Amino acid sequence: MSSSLIRALLLGLLAAIVSWPIGHFVTTWLGWLVFSISLAWQMLYHYRHFVKLDRWSRVPALDGTLEADEGAWDGIFGRLYRHEKGLQEQIAQRDQEIAMLIAAGQALTDGVILLNQHNHILFCNVTAENQLGLVVASDRGQAVVNLVRQPEFVAYLEGEDFSRPLTLRSDRNQNSVLSIHVIPYSGNRRLMQIKDITQSDRLDQMRRDFVANVSHELRTPLTVLSGFLETLQEIDVEPDEQHRFLELMAEQSKRMQSIVQDLLTLSSIESAPPPENETVDMVNLLDKLRRDAEALSAGRHTIIVESDGQGDLRGSEPDLVSAFGNLVSNAVRYTPAGGTVCLAWHATPQGAEFAVQDSGIGIEAKHIPRLTERFYRVDRGRSRDAGGTGLGLAIVKHSLNRHQAQLEITSKPGAGSRFAAKFPASRVAGV
Ligand code: ADP
Repeated sequence: MSSSLIRALLLGLLAAIVSWPIGHFVTTWLGWLVFSISLAWQMLYHYRHFVKLDRWSRVPALDGTLEADEGAWDGIFGRLYRHEKGLQEQIAQRDQEIAMLIAAGQALTDGVILLNQHNHILFCNVTAENQLGLVVASDRGQAVVNLVRQPEFVAYLEGEDFSRPLTLRSDRNQNSVLSIHVIPYSGNRRLMQIKDITQSDRLDQMRRDFVANVSHELRTPLTVLSGFLETLQEIDVEPDEQHRFLELMAEQSKRMQSIVQDLLTLSSIESAPPPENETVDMVNLLDKLRRDAEALSAGRHTIIVESDGQGDLRGSEPDLVSAFGNLVSNAVRYTPAGGTVCLAWHATPQGAEFAVQDSGIGIEAKHIPRLTERFYRVDRGRSRDAGGTGLGLAIVKHSLNRHQAQLEITSKPGAGSRFAAKFPASRVAGV
């Protein structure tokens, strides 16, 4: 039996013990009156506390509203108070844990959406909102297929085969590519993980294009070479003709060598660590470039060097030789005989510029943004005749990038071109 009940019974017994002698020795009605009053007092006490408990149970608060007078209810209220306090602490702790989990979900750089068995959105983080154009405030509880209506997405979700992720080119932003993977969890719920794979998809595409381009570039000279070889093996060819064939074969094998050499240069520039800060003597370098230009031109052009001999560059000499050498060789190769090629160097404490200006064939404006792409050529036949590989400006761009330099191209068809490499102050020495 609980202590509160025993206490209530004892109080009843005490009322009987006090009122019985009064009824017996004074008068009976007085005894009953005392007994009734003590019982009524007890009932009032219980009633008041019962009303208090009833009110509190509707909105259990820990603000002192559940306080009892001395007596049976004191213990009951105390236990209820402690129980409620424990519960509220547990709820607060759980709320805190849930808030932390939600914050972790929001911090993820991948999009995350939780769906119920009907594909209705239960939770969606900010990344997923941005990736799929959702607005969580209004879209929570909606079927995700009503919000993202791309047929391949709907088919993936409804197909129920989630062994592979879905690659989705976003309808909202054609440039963005998403990888969507649904992971079933907790029975029939689903976690949708969305990765932005735009960058890796672009790299994959570039790699595929590059392999296709290299194969294409090497196939042409190889076909020519094997054609001549077959002819020489099968037919008796006159010595003169044989000599001509061998010359053409040597030309094609030289072409393949140039392509492979340029590919190796490009790959070594790409994979090399950041360039050293060795000082590159520009007077020597300009002299070497002038001599190379004169050798390539073989007297067909006027080669001019404009420089006050001030300032040097900090960086990797082989990279810079390769970049500037390609600009000079292009200027000579794309300038008809009688033209001029000018190499100019100008350095100030704020930055430096190496420029190659020619009076050659020039380039239409529409081609300029694409010139540094690998194997991009304005005129494939002319480039081939000029001994080009289509990789020269790609090499220039990469080696300049490694020196935080920019390539600026200005050109006018028929009037000539100017290729300028602009270096920041941090790359300039000796001014
Ligand atoms: P290529 O080996 O074909 O010269 P590049 O990457 O060096 O390849 O140059 C890409 C293309 O840019 C060339 O095919 C040519 O059409 C154009 N080009 C480059 N430099 C010049 C220039 N100085 N004058 C005119 N066209 C140029």
